[in-house]
Amino acid sequence: MRDGGRPRATGPGAEPALDLPVLRANLLRWYALHQRSLPWRAAPGTRPDPYAVWISEVMLQQTQVVTATPYFQRWMARFPTLEALAAASVDEVLQLWQGLGYYGRARRLHEAAQLLIARGGGIPADPAELRALPGVGDYSAGALLSIAFGRAHPAIDGNVRRVLGRIGALEGDLTRSEGAARLRALAQGLLDAAPNDQCLDGAGFASSPGDLNQALMELGARVCRPRQPDCSICPVQRYCLAHGSGREAEFPQAVRRTPPRPATGFAYAIRDAAGRWLLGRRRDDGLLGGLWEFPWLESNDADERPEPLSAHWGPWVLDLEPLGPAIRHAFTHLRLDLRLLRGDLASADPQRLPERWSPYVEWRWVALDGLEARSLPMSRLMDKLRRRLAEH
Ligand code: SF4
Repeated sequence: MRDGGRPRATGPGAEPALDLPVLRANLLRWYALHQRSLPWRAAPGTRPDPYAVWISEVMLQQTQVVTATPYFQRWMARFPTLEALAAASVDEVLQLWQGLGYYGRARRLHEAAQLLIARGGGIPADPAELRALPGVGDYSAGALLSIAFGRAHPAIDGNVRRVLGRIGALEGDLTRSEGAARLRALAQGLLDAAPNDQCLDGAGFASSPGDLNQALMELGARVCRPRQPDCSICPVQRYCLAHGSGREAEFPQAVRRTPPRPATGFAYAIRDAAGRWLLGRRRDDGLLGGLWEFPWLESNDADERPEPLSAHWGPWVLDLEPLGPAIRHAFTHLRLDLRLLRGDLASADPQRLPERWSPYVEWRWVALDGLEARSLPMSRLMDKLRRRLAEH
């Protein structure tokens, strides 16, 4: 299995030469000693609350623990149970999610809670039933099944992909097809590995599938980091194929991603005679779905001029005044430079609102310092636009 006490690397398609029981024991031992106390983790000897596990795992996708923790605490204080979440309005749910991004996740959590309560049940422990719920993919299902229900299902997020990709020196793109299958086989192999007599003192430590999955996640977050993994303190250093061949920086291998598309656009801050601002609610199924904001559109004009007002607002808005330079906002797929324009409603016809803005499904005139504004979910982009407006 190892050359001269060091593990040997394997090529694509080959089974990694790893002693899975020993690896598993070392990971569990390290996790038992070093795991952080986090608000969604059950105290030793107690069963995790599936609902808390679900919320935390959805929040933690592409978000660091330090960012997600206050969101989780506010969420659990307001929606302590599945029933409480199902009974809430979508606006309230989105508002508590405000700033975490990926708002579709919050909407789908809410949808799934309503579905489960309508069926009269709790969170299912059955993989197929779980996967059929809105927003529950392979990762969420694996995390819930292993952590909340103690079932041996892999939960492969970015951290786990990196750690296992390095431990197994897995070549190629691990996010799809054959590479993803090899990664999953390694994760499943670790979960299924029975302890043997080489497991040193690891066998005495906690050994649920949830602990093992969390050990991998935790190791990825704290030791086997994307850059400069701290191999000197790693519990599996002796068994890691990438480290054994001095190639830890080469794994997981870079995957060419489509870079975010650059785009420009204009946002419109339109004020009525009462000093209220026009906010639009975006449709649920698109970018920033369900959130309220100053309406904005990408520009179709190569010279980046705002489209003629009459195209959007008719004769009811006075000239628009640009407020400072473009505001940069990055989405996963889009790098947006947005210019904010301010204008006043010229005549009293506030009911007659633009109809051609397809991303928006509802319009309201809102005092930004009032109670209503505090109850509407808004995005970080809207925070930037509001800050710019306040500066002028
Ligand atoms: Fe990651 Fe280094 Fe540990 Fe391998 S030895 S799992 S590269 S930290």
